[in-house]
Amino acid sequence: MARKVDVAALAKGVLDGSRSLLARAITLVESHHPEHRRAAQELLMELLPAAGGAHRVGISGVPGVGKSTFIEALGTRLTGAGHRVAVLAVDPSSTRTRGSILGDKTRMTALSTDPDAFVRPSPSAGTLGGVARATRETIVLMEAAGYDVVLVETVGVGQSEIAVAAMVDTFLLLTIARTGDQLQGIKKGILEIADVVAVNKADGEHEGDARSAAADLASALRMMAPAGESAAIDWRPPVLPCSSRTGAGLDEVWEAVERHRAALDQHGELAGKRATQQVDWMWAMVRDRLLDRLQSDPGVREVLPRLEREVRAGERTPTLAAQDILDRLGL
Ligand code: GDP
Repeated sequence: MARKVDVAALAKGVLDGSRSLLARAITLVESHHPEHRRAAQELLMELLPAAGGAHRVGISGVPGVGKSTFIEALGTRLTGAGHRVAVLAVDPSSTRTRGSILGDKTRMTALSTDPDAFVRPSPSAGTLGGVARATRETIVLMEAAGYDVVLVETVGVGQSEIAVAAMVDTFLLLTIARTGDQLQGIKKGILEIADVVAVNKADGEHEGDARSAAADLASALRMMAPAGESAAIDWRPPVLPCSSRTGAGLDEVWEAVERHRAALDQHGELAGKRATQQVDWMWAMVRDRLLDRLQSDPGVREVLPRLEREVRAGERTPTLAAQDILDRLGL
């Protein structure tokens, strides 16, 4: 896509619901090419007034927990109920494993061919910061194209779930019953950002396990005092068993997700949450860009090993070393 981008045509195509132009617009926001970056920002400015209308939901869980089966089943229900559903992913690890979580579209065969759904694989290049940026911008495109539910999938490893929680209204943690301590394997940090917890694979011989795991997890969560926004809206994350295979419990999970968003709305927190997310995003980009510049600066790279060595050996104070590095960037 090195040729000049016709931003007006792309914007119109997205607003008119053209799938092929929407796909091109996403490719544009994913691009690192400076000319594309400029065109993408122009496009986003054009589309921003038409964005913001979706319920943005993050869905996280460790590999194998059933995320793609869940999204396929839930998404199909939602389109059946008249929603238009977009599915995105944040999976920076895909650069290493050479295949993103949504790269293999056959994992969501029904949704991928559903005219009311749009399944987009994770951008496969770059750092978490870069992938998160592209995903946030893609959410704007999806909303401008009229999708009213945006599901952002992420693997429950690393920092990606924090990045996703920072771009959605409601964060859904998918888990499964485990023998022994139910909290084992679930990082405490992720429970703190979960707005709804679903215990998947509650079917067949495992149904009882899933139900008791859900009850255990619910009581563990009751012990945790709600903080921040959850306290402000008086929200306790419900823990619900479900089966993505049979569909049992999926309606209840979605109802809980909608209740969470209604609670945000009712307490006047939704607009504030989104506004704060935008400002945080701005600063995250400033930090990313500064760090990029710093790490790619030849003068800085030259002195880094020496400075690190001297700080490690206690021969130079961290403050002086930091100043030395920043001086080289003229900061
Ligand atoms: P992901 O890695 O989290 O996306 O997980 P997948 O959706 O690929 O599912 C992993 C495996 O669990 C697959 O073999 C699915 O068929 C199976 N699975 C997913 N959901 C359910 C469920 O609700 N019940 C049962 N029994 N198996 C499920």
